[in-house]
Amino acid sequence: MSDYISREEAENRIDEALRRVFVEPVGKSILSKLPAAEVKHVVMGKWMLVDTEDGDRDDTLLMTWWCNRCGKEFKTAGRLDFDFCPKCGADMRERNNEHE
Ligand SMILES: [Zn+2]
Repeated sequence: MSDYISREEAENRIDEALRRVFVEPVGKSILSKLPAAEVKHVVMGKWMLVDTEDGDRDDTLLMTWWCNRCGKEFKTAGRLDFDFCPKCGADMRERNNEHE
């Protein structure tokens, strides 16, 4: 076997050696110092409007909405504008909040 290697092979071996010595340890070091993301599972919910035909007639000016996640009811004079359920924290955005 020859003791000689091509210039290209020598360059490739040097590049590989430098990559192993510097790039990988630096990359691992950087990654190990990055703060872990605090990922919170988002619970989506939906405001459901209690049908006033079903007996919620004690005050016809108020509409009764309930959270489909926790069941908590809220009375409002119109649309319920909470983006999150005050009781369970469910995310009520990105949904059509109309009664279905
Ligand atoms: Zn809720």
